[in-house]
Amino acid sequence: MAIQTINPATNKVVKSFEAMSPKEVDAAVEQAARAYTDWRKTSYQDRSNLLKEVAGLMRMRKTYLAQLITLEMGKLIAQAEGEIDLSADIFDYYATHGAKFLADKPLFPQFGQAFIRYSPIGVLFGVEPWNFPFYQVARFAAPNLMVGNTILLKHASMVPQCALAIQDLFVDAGAPKGVYTNLLISGSHASELVSNALIKGVSLTGSEAAGASLATEAGKHLKKSVLELGGSDAFIILEDADIDKTVEWAVVGRINNNGECCVAAKRFIAVEAIADEFLKKFKDKLSKLIIGDPMDPKTELGPMSSEAAAVQIADQVKRSVDAGATVLLGGKRVDRPGAFMEPTILTDLKPEMAAYYEELFGPVASFYRVKDEQAAIDLANDSPYGLGGSVFTKDIERGKRVADQIDTGMVFINHPTWTAADLPFGGTKQSGYGRELSELGVEEFVNKKLIRTNGLSDPF
Ligand code: NAP
Repeated sequence: MAIQTINPATNKVVKSFEAMSPKEVDAAVEQAARAYTDWRKTSYQDRSNLLKEVAGLMRMRKTYLAQLITLEMGKLIAQAEGEIDLSADIFDYYATHGAKFLADKPLFPQFGQAFIRYSPIGVLFGVEPWNFPFYQVARFAAPNLMVGNTILLKHASMVPQCALAIQDLFVDAGAPKGVYTNLLISGSHASELVSNALIKGVSLTGSEAAGASLATEAGKHLKKSVLELGGSDAFIILEDADIDKTVEWAVVGRINNNGECCVAAKRFIAVEAIADEFLKKFKDKLSKLIIGDPMDPKTELGPMSSEAAAVQIADQVKRSVDAGATVLLGGKRVDRPGAFMEPTILTDLKPEMAAYYEELFGPVASFYRVKDEQAAIDLANDSPYGLGGSVFTKDIERGKRVADQIDTGMVFINHPTWTAADLPFGGTKQSGYGRELSELGVEEFVNKKLIRTNGLSDPF
């Protein structure tokens, strides 16, 4: 894929970048390994200071950074500013709590003394997607820098200016050279890098195909990997839900980030008793969204991130309709330049249709009407994905019982799946493995080293 900024609101090329040569990439890996030998010896206080500095700079540059996000991938400007705030919060969170999470953990063996020491493992290679260009990097880089690892980051080819702006934040915050390095390379070359002996762990957020490619190389070379992949979150509405509030969250859950969230609500599952009321109100709200320029604060639905993304979702709708699905709302590209797709609702979906099992990465909701709570749970679990999900009910204990039966990494009650620095994030099944954020976020690329003290006794 060419490394380019293409404004999806116009589909015009704004700026192109040269990929790094293999020699430059090798030099960057070597620099990251050299930096590691010193970085691993720094104190938690030093690492925390760097993370705080990055967070501060991010907030100072918020307007500029948010505009870059909107320019490169079409996020509404207010949401882009929110992403910068969230990313800065993640850096602050690990700066504040990282040392506590990584403190020696005492063990209580039968004899003598023992404890776990958390040690870094070396250079990590992260591959990140375009849909949250700052947040995705923050949740990988912040905890791992606190651990004492160094980072090589290959960002999505369509957000090169965001990628370079993140590197600038580190440089300006005073990070030693090699502690955080952006690699301008294309996805097709990313997996090759895993075999480099200086790289000790890999993490990818993105599609299943890219994840499988990177993890296959990691497996071949016996390196730890973490994968955060796609999702098809169920949004369950039970008969005792507050329908008006639930509808508002349903709209946010589906169209936040123009529908391009791994944890967007994608499958709306309503029990019979309230299905008609929910669907009518949901359709009404989606049909009134203001579609337009994502830089305009009045816009409620912007373009998809790229022309290819818009073509793909329109094709998923077409294939579903050709197989017998009903379009209740939308279903077409918006008649204007740019990568726009209408807000869409599909009903009468069956397992053989594209929209049933495939991830719908855009403003297209699939709607299902089911008999009761058990049928809702069964349908929610009938997915190759296991990322998030939500259940709407006034009875919180009932919500927890339903959550317990949903086979995903995260379930929210009375809220679409969401994220925060202090909540773990990750999935099961085809959605990947491992966790980011919260205290779990420091545990993936760390050597949990046993240190054992025995009294000096005679050998056996
Ligand atoms: P993608 O094509 O997989 O791209 C993601 C990253 O992987 C990009 O940096 C891409 O580089 C790189 N890549 C592509 N092919 C690769 C390969 N063979 N080996 C190594 N790296 C490779 O993903 P996308 O379709 O643009 O992003 C959307 C997907 O990400 C959705 O499925 C979404 O659900 C998922 N996602 C998951 C989470 C989560 O936390 N679970 C969060 C956000 C998004 P290039 O850009 O250069 O191709």
